[in-house]
Parts: sequence; C-alpha cells; structure tokens
Amino acid sequence: MSNIQAYLRPDSLEGALALLAEHQERARPLAGGTSLIFSHPPRVEVLVDLAGAGLDHVEHAETGGVDIGSMTSCSHLATALRGRQLDKSALTDALATLYTPVLRNHITVGGNCVMVYGWSHLPVTMWALDARFMVVSHKAKPRDVDADTFFERHPLRWLGAGELLTQITVKSPAEGSGSAFLKFGRDKSDEGIASVAVSLRLQDEKVASARLVVGSTRPMPQKLDDVAALVVGKRPSKEVFAEAGEAAAKAVVASDNYLGSADYRRHIVASLVRDALAKATQRAGGAA
Ligand SMILES: Cc1cc2nc3c(=O)[nH]c(=O)nc-3n(C[C@H](O)[C@H](O)[C@H](O)COP(=O)(O)OP(=O)(O)OC[C@H]3O[C@@H](n4cnc5c(N)ncnc54)[C@H](O)[C@@H]3O)c2cc1C
Repeated sequence: MSNIQAYLRPDSLEGALALLAEHQERARPLAGGTSLIFSHPPRVEVLVDLAGAGLDHVEHAETGGVDIGSMTSCSHLATALRGRQLDKSALTDALATLYTPVLRNHITVGGNCVMVYGWSHLPVTMWALDARFMVVSHKAKPRDVDADTFFERHPLRWLGAGELLTQITVKSPAEGSGSAFLKFGRDKSDEGIASVAVSLRLQDEKVASARLVVGSTRPMPQKLDDVAALVVGKRPSKEVFAEAGEAAAKAVVASDNYLGSADYRRHIVASLVRDALAKATQRAGGAA
C-alpha cells in the first residue's frame, strides 16, 4: 500500500465522480476493499471510497425484477431477496456459496462484477441472468450496458478512468422460468474447480430459451451459446441435459491449476451443466 497517498471519502455520488475525474488514472474507486487492498496498479495513489455515495440499496420493481446498487454487500442482497421472486434462483445460489459469511458482509455486488477473477461467482451468474449494468461518469451520459458487453472483456480493461458501475438490474423471471448456479470446490466456501450458471424458460413443456455460463475454468467466464442452443426446442430430460453437459465439456476452455487439471475441470463441467439444467427446469415448474 506504500504508493497510496490519499484516502478520500466523498458523501455523494457526484462528489465521487468529480474526484475520479480529477485524479483519472491515479485514482481507483474503493468498494468492499477485499481485493483492492491486496492488489492495485503501482500508479494508483488515490482511493475514492464509495461508502458515502448512496449506492447501497436493493429496490424491488413491482414486476419482480430488482435494481441493486453497486455498493450493496452480498449478504445484504441475499437477505433482501428472501421471499421475493428471485429467491431460489441462480443469484441466491451464488450468494449463499460465495466464500464465507464474514467476507460476504464486505464484498460488494459491484466490486465482484467489476474485479472478475476465475473464482468470482456474480459475473457467471449475472451473465446467465442477462443482467444490465449502469455505468456513469462525471461528464458523459450514463451508459446502460448489457451483460454480453459487460463481460465480453475484463471490465477493468474497458471501463474508462473515472467511470463507475452504479447499479445492476436483474429482470423479473418470466412465467415458466428458472435458474440455478452450481459450484464444485473442495468445500462449500472454497474457490470453485468449476462453476456453472443456467437460466431457462419452458413453454408447452419444451425449453423455449436458455443461457449457460461456465466459470472458474479460466480467468474469465465463458458463455456457451451453442451448448445452450442444444436444449432449446427439446423436452427437458436427463438424456438431453447429459448431452449438453458433454458438449459443454468439449467446448469450454480450461487450464491446469493447483486445484486440478484442465481435463478434470472439463469432467466436472459436464456434471455441473447437466445438474444445473435439471435444477433450473425444476424451478421453472418442469421435470427432467
Ligand atoms: C480470501 C478471499 C476469498 C474470496 N473468495 C471468493 C469466491 O470464492 N467467490 C467470489 O465471487 N469472490 C470471492 N472473493 C471476493 C473477490 O475475490 C473480490 O475480492 C471481491 O469481489 C471484490 O469486491 P469488493 O467489493 O471488495 O471490491 P474492491 O476490492 O473494493 O474493488 C475491486 C476492484 O473493482 C473496482 N471497483 C469496485 N467497485 C466498483 C464500481 N462500483 N465501479 C467501478 N469499479 C469498481 C475497484 O476500483 C477495484 O479495482 C474472495 C475474497 C477474498 C479476500
């Protein structure tokens, strides 16, 4: 931390944006601090704490969707979703297994989405749920960014100096929809050897649409559209989902690390995809 020369805590969003615009590449927004305190580029000398920027909120739309302020902690969001439409979804699965309860009190939803690591839960989940991301800066117009764009490259590579993620919107699950997030690790809270998030919609007892994202097998998550397309138009069944799992194992890019070989991870992906599709189907009111 020796290069940090100033810690600034503005009491409004406008104040935070003005400070980030003033200091440009020398400044970084500080959210939960759980990764920023360990690693930041050497040129970063100013931390702009977002704690007073009014971004800690969860607002439920009447339709069941949810607007999540980027400074909302993972534990706050999990509590706010209880008994709501997104309860028992990929989002609540991901929040429940995201490291430990103590860390979940600190890790923010925005920080987890922006600082993507191989083990990060919310990028995988938010991408599968087709979330939207509001990005604002001091002078430019706010940008409403879709999940495909947000996670196409690491967000820190395309977010401009002075740009802030202020809100994540997860839309209401449509009639007949279900989603699930599954992670396989050495224990419940440990870094995933592989993880999978799925969302799908059933119509006339067939899968009408599906989104499938694999995480943990390399630094960035991977959205597997061709694999998701394999289940669309079909009646949910163990065989269809097992076939999709095998296809995902072939399609996914995986690397060796201390948790397992690339082949082992692909093998785990096949099982997770099969099981996540079955869980999402069950939540959508169908049977596999
Ligand atoms: C021991 C340990 C284990 C962990 N295990 C897991 C795990 O299994 N799964 C998991 O998902 N996570 C896990 N995490 C959390 C994860 O690795 C990151 O530390 C966390 O997601 C960062 O969130 P934060 O709110 O603390 O962000 P910070 O550390 O404050 O910021 C991270 C980066 O994002 C930028 N940033 C933050 N908020 C914004 C914003 N609103 N707009 C623009 N830029 C922003 C910051 O400038 C910084 O560059 C773990 C963390 C620790 C310490």
